Amino acid sequence: MVNNQSLTDIKSMTLPELTAFMLSIGEKAFRAKQLYQWIHVKLAASFDEMTNLSGDLRQKLKETCFLTVLVPEEENISKLDGTRKYLFALADNNMIESVWMEYQHGNSVCISTQVGCRMGCRFCASTIGGVVRNLTAAEMLDQVYRMQQITGKRVSNVVLMGSGEPLDNYDNVVRFLELITDENGLNLSGRNITLSTCGIVERIYDLAKLKFPITLALSLHASNQETRKKLMPIAYKYPLEQVLKACDDYYEATGRRLSYEFSLVAGVNDSSETAKELANLLRGRHCHVNLIPVNPVKERDFVGTTHSNAVSFQKMLEKYGINATIRREMGRDINGACGQLRRSYLEKKQVPIQEGDPQH
Ligand code: SAH
Repeated sequence: MVNNQSLTDIKSMTLPELTAFMLSIGEKAFRAKQLYQWIHVKLAASFDEMTNLSGDLRQKLKETCFLTVLVPEEENISKLDGTRKYLFALADNNMIESVWMEYQHGNSVCISTQVGCRMGCRFCASTIGGVVRNLTAAEMLDQVYRMQQITGKRVSNVVLMGSGEPLDNYDNVVRFLELITDENGLNLSGRNITLSTCGIVERIYDLAKLKFPITLALSLHASNQETRKKLMPIAYKYPLEQVLKACDDYYEATGRRLSYEFSLVAGVNDSSETAKELANLLRGRHCHVNLIPVNPVKERDFVGTTHSNAVSFQKMLEKYGINATIRREMGRDINGACGQLRRSYLEKKQVPIQEGDPQH
């Protein structure tokens, strides 16, 4: 948690770690609690706001630590449903995107876990330039904190479904989960958190062992291994059968019903035969299928299924006893699929899109 200028990333620290740190710089333990509250409850954006800490201590903190605060570079607000899309600048000038959605049951935010992604899913804009780097726990937290500060409203649900593969940034994501659910911090219930993964099998087993009560969403997108390989290169590494077994283990360990994400691509995975095959594949599993007509990405030639076809697909699944919903499209007027805001920004600014290391 020390960056290249040897400054300590205090927003990524748990309270016990922060306490040890404060003791190491000659401060009393209760100061750690005050500092932690400024960071994680009052969502302070600078040390200067921390008025119950002495000027000397604030100075000492400025010299030894940094406080991750994201800067909103662009904000797009939907006129249709209040959805907001943010492009946030990180301290090293990388850009990430986050989304704010308002539902009847509360406010939900969708956050990024990496700058870019290396999973290579064929229909996804986030992966086109590969991965640039992992986000720190603080950078994930601050997406939530900044959106709360900007809107003045409380977040009730967090979904890790923005750019990046959360289980490819496992340690930082676990730290993020610990911090955001900490009763001394934002104190979000694990039940209100969803982590979406393309299916990195070992990490699903690891996550299950931690027994966080969070929902695991698996990006399935296919009813058999052959089709999945065409859409998601990760399927070459982890065959469908292994992924589903890991998901079953997750259910057994946590008691949390799985969510299976299914993006419908016209002519590829949207036929009634696919719906039947999918129902067979998931039969007997405690799960829910989330259907979403694939969002067009200009660099790709995939076309989303029609709404009426999505409805028939859903009905077919239900006929075979599988719970399914069509995801409500939010913010239709403010930019499409995830990863597109960052890409259009990079293109506009003519920033060379850094090629990461696509894994496959
Ligand atoms: N890497 C994680 C989380 C980020 S992607 C994962 O794979 O689950 C979040 C979800 O959006 C995934 O289900 C992903 O497959 C889906 N997705 C990506 N691009 C999409 C597009 N153009 N249209 C519809 N869904 C898309």
